[in-house]
Amino acid sequence: MTQMLNIIGGGMAGSEAAWQAANAGLQVTIHEMRPKVETFAHRTGNLGEMVCSNSFRSDDHEQNAVGLLHWEMMQAGGLIMQTAHKHRLPAGGALAVDRDPFAQSVTKALQDHPNIRISYDEITTLPDDGHWIIATGPLTSGSLAEAIQAETGAEALAFFDAIAPIVYAESIDMGKAWMQSRYDKGETEAERTAYLNCPMTKAEYEAFIDALLAAEKTTFKEGETAGYFDGCLPIEVMAERGRETLRFGPMKPVGLTNAHDPDNKPYAVVQLRRDNALGTLFNIVGFQTKMKYGAQKSVFKMIPGLEAAEFARLGGIHRNTFINSPTLLDDQMRLRAKPHLRFAGQITGVEGYVESAAMGLLAGRLAVAELSGQTLPPVPGTTAMGALVTHITGGAEAKTFQPMNVNFGLFPPVDGIKGGRRNRKDRYKAYTDRAKADWQAWLGQTAQNAA
Ligand SMILES: Cc1cc2nc3c(=O)[nH]c(=O)nc-3n(C[C@H](O)[C@H](O)[C@H](O)COP(=O)(O)OP(=O)(O)OC[C@H]3O[C@@H](n4cnc5c(N)ncnc54)[C@H](O)[C@@H]3O)c2cc1C
Repeated sequence: MTQMLNIIGGGMAGSEAAWQAANAGLQVTIHEMRPKVETFAHRTGNLGEMVCSNSFRSDDHEQNAVGLLHWEMMQAGGLIMQTAHKHRLPAGGALAVDRDPFAQSVTKALQDHPNIRISYDEITTLPDDGHWIIATGPLTSGSLAEAIQAETGAEALAFFDAIAPIVYAESIDMGKAWMQSRYDKGETEAERTAYLNCPMTKAEYEAFIDALLAAEKTTFKEGETAGYFDGCLPIEVMAERGRETLRFGPMKPVGLTNAHDPDNKPYAVVQLRRDNALGTLFNIVGFQTKMKYGAQKSVFKMIPGLEAAEFARLGGIHRNTFINSPTLLDDQMRLRAKPHLRFAGQITGVEGYVESAAMGLLAGRLAVAELSGQTLPPVPGTTAMGALVTHITGGAEAKTFQPMNVNFGLFPPVDGIKGGRRNRKDRYKAYTDRAKADWQAWLGQTAQNAA
């Protein structure tokens, strides 16, 4: 096979995509703008540079969704995971690495590969022909971002993520919360009961505001511009503007009747909205925040109904370039309007080194199949890889789409396994056992197709 594949960006996703495609026989060119053009977060010209933490998070492939993703990538011969294991540092159950030797090894593996060429240039426009993977990450350069925006529309490309915390549905106390849309709006019963509501008394509201104001916050990094828009102000900034601001904003109690106590009007209400088609995840509406993770957990657990909440992800506001994948990408990760352009990595709306590398792995393999005239069978949604790609290309709510980590809330339930906290260990083991069997079957099937 002498087909050509171009990859823009040699970060987590681009490096992994190149490795997968080159190993399958494609001639790959990686276009990386560093070190000629810098970003505010990268420090070197290495490929696969970790911009902040040196951890790939949990390596527990039986009880943790990101650990499972590590496992799946290892099974698929993933460069990022193999290299991470070579440069592992002691870090308990986490896969932490010695970051510079790690990135140097990734760079060398790609430089030494006979099918890979590295071109140190910035790509500033969207190519009209050929086969391309765009893996330029959260800090995509300005001119390319403008070109993507011109192609997809202003609404479809975000430059910041304003992430509200996401809670596992099963950890919400429905003895206190109830389902109702404001003013019972909606044509169908499902629409009239689309929101999950948590009521607060005056005393609970005042204590919540005190905790919010006192909580430890993170600050924007230098170069990350602290100018955020009024539409996505952190809740603590709203609270600083006045103690009542939230009660007239995301916590307003109007149009809602507490199903557990209809005669008492709540003083404030926190609303949660379904975050995925499975209905296993709910986001806290309007609760983007710059509070530190530890502080978020203790403050949000003050909300009646969320005392035992478990978080699939915590909130944040970051500089982050990402597209609205659910509306723009097909299930092969191609831009519907220009299918010669495939997207991978954080720019597709996944979040984190591991998830980004995973989407690179998949995009590389999808490109190989396409260029050799095949179509891969869909990745089972029961695997970590499949759960993630299904989420970004269709499972997520397009209107409120925000970057997502891999988590068990994205997995379809396992038949016969009970929900709830007490059964969590068995349930997670059932998820990971099923995922491993399905992932191996998928890898076997795709190898057979290629033979
Ligand atoms: C400040 C910051 C801190 C972060 N901290 C963490 C963390 O601690 N843990 C974590 O898991 N995730 C973190 N992330 C998210 C992290 O960036 C991603 O998880 C991961 O690096 C994304 O992989 P990627 O391949 O999509 O993008 P990247 O790894 O950023 O790779 C994209 C590459 O594309 C290149 N590029 C951009 N535009 C062009 C262009 N026009 N032409 C050619 N090349 C181009 C860039 O130079 C870069 O090398 C952080 C992100 C930011 C911005």
